[in-house]
Amino acid sequence: MSFSLYVHIPWCQSKCPYCDFNSHAAASWPEHQYTATLIAELERRAAMAPFAGERIKTIFFGGGTPSLFDPKSIGAIIDAAARIFGIDSGAEITLEANPGTVNAEKLRGMRAAGVNRISFGAQSFNDATLKFLGRIHTADETREAAKLAHRAGFDRLNLDLIFAVPGQTVADILFDIESAVGLEPDHISAYNLTFEEGTAFFTDLKRGRIKQLPTDEQAAMYATVREEIPRRGYPMYEISNYAPPGHEARHNLAYWRGESYIGIGAGAHSYARDGQGGRRWWNEKFPARYIAAIEERGLAEAGSENVDETSSQGEFVFLNLRLRDGFALRDFHDRFGRNFECIFGATATPLFNDGLLTLDRGRIKLTDRGLEMADSVFAEFV
Ligand code: SF4
Repeated sequence: MSFSLYVHIPWCQSKCPYCDFNSHAAASWPEHQYTATLIAELERRAAMAPFAGERIKTIFFGGGTPSLFDPKSIGAIIDAAARIFGIDSGAEITLEANPGTVNAEKLRGMRAAGVNRISFGAQSFNDATLKFLGRIHTADETREAAKLAHRAGFDRLNLDLIFAVPGQTVADILFDIESAVGLEPDHISAYNLTFEEGTAFFTDLKRGRIKQLPTDEQAAMYATVREEIPRRGYPMYEISNYAPPGHEARHNLAYWRGESYIGIGAGAHSYARDGQGGRRWWNEKFPARYIAAIEERGLAEAGSENVDETSSQGEFVFLNLRLRDGFALRDFHDRFGRNFECIFGATATPLFNDGLLTLDRGRIKLTDRGLEMADSVFAEFV
């Protein structure tokens, strides 16, 4: 069975105050050494169960800011993946990019290297909002980057938006949506701003320097996003993701469907399905420690856990419920050999009664109200 490959590039030009990803602000980075280390990790994984002999069906370069890397480095990693494992023909190969880090030459280079999908962190088309979010780019730079990406041959283009930023209004969100759609992406992601522990925004919030929008305003913005993006030709297929049929992010679909993936690079997570359960592991978080670990022992695992059948059943439910189409009861039975009702009947009944879940032609899905309270629904299955 083929699997997905995630490649983590951990550096950024500066750290955005809301970001809790494993990203490190740097003026320079050991690109050559890190690329060689990623390839060494890939070689080691190819020699081990359970991925030995399997092919790759999607690749995702995330970060951090992968677009800081030279296309030659990205190309070397793709070539190595093809040589070491083999890549399915037509595989989706995505690169996350910051609009402030690309030009025509870099985008052409990435396309020639084999990348066939670009995901720009646009976030907003209001320069004051971008500044507040600590972004290094302007709205005009995003517009230019999207045009250049199309010209470089990227038919598949995602734009990320962030909503519920302090001070934002529903009209601002509409403007962002209009602006994004005007750039003709084939996919839009729209995320509610969160204030995660450890971020600068979290500290600002605790110290009263910034204020979160009231919950009802956040819900109104999410409702606007859910209605207005689909109205423009991008149906919602996941809690935060919108695309015409056939343009969904295949790499992310693999995560939501609980399929196997290898993550290589600093702090990257991996998951290998095994029978009814699986194993999850994660790498050393800091780039220098990651590189040192691979150089010393070929692997950089900092921790791992076995996912038993019970946890795996819960994960299957809450990951698939992220999808607008939910999951088929039959698929649950095929995967675990038992009926959903036998295992989760007592948990799910109150959620149906409260109008958070619905059963539609053999599929269980979140209702609109369930979408707004998704985290509390998911918590019931953890
Ligand atoms: S560019 Fe992206 S990964 Fe880097 S700090 Fe900002 S949000 Fe985080």
